[in-house]
Amino acid sequence: MMPYFKHPVDYPVNDLLSDMDKLFDAVDAIQIFRLLGGETFLYKDLNPLIEKALSSPKVKTVEVVSNGTIIPPQSTLELMKNPRLIFQISHYGKYSRHAEEIKALCDKMGVKCVVRYPDDKTWSYFGDLHFRGRSEKELRHQLKNCASICRNFLDGRLYFCPRASFGSKLGMPDSPNDFVDVRAESDRKILRRKIFELNQKRYIAACNYCDEGTGEVKSVPVAEQM
Ligand code: SF4
Repeated sequence: MMPYFKHPVDYPVNDLLSDMDKLFDAVDAIQIFRLLGGETFLYKDLNPLIEKALSSPKVKTVEVVSNGTIIPPQSTLELMKNPRLIFQISHYGKYSRHAEEIKALCDKMGVKCVVRYPDDKTWSYFGDLHFRGRSEKELRHQLKNCASICRNFLDGRLYFCPRASFGSKLGMPDSPNDFVDVRAESDRKILRRKIFELNQKRYIAACNYCDEGTGEVKSVPVAEQM
């Protein structure tokens, strides 16, 4: 959905760092904490976020994702040498103009770098953001078949899935059922309970604005978003 953002914003780093502290404190473990953009290296305060994620023993793996358009600064490459970090380059063909150079740099410096080439697989198009009018039974069935398993932490809110978070910024109704407001919750116990409950959802409001899990999802070539 990134290309649909007309007015992208950079959130203040101190807000993000304190959000991360609260989230890490509230949960038992995070298997993968993935930092991504838009293009991740456009964010000028990325290093403190990487350091924060690596500093928590609860985070098992940190991933940083880039589209290979920006060569990371030396200080970021140094941080990314950490054995708990995997650097992923999503290769968008000719648009990822520095991908090979970055990969060579990573190999030289001992950064674990994985390049995902466009011919690796296809992407799925979940459809536009109109309301589908599905019944509760249909929504439950849809979520059972949904392959989107990542939570999305955006602007202090932990959303059930990326579609729910980015959709809410692009005009889809922002349902309190679909996220936990980590930034607003001051009680750790309540925060833990709310995160637990989020993980138990059988469907969310955003599913009614999405085709994933319905068998009607179109495959589209990687790197051709619009
Ligand atoms: S909105 Fe529902 S069906 Fe769509 S990706 Fe999110 S959880 Fe899956």
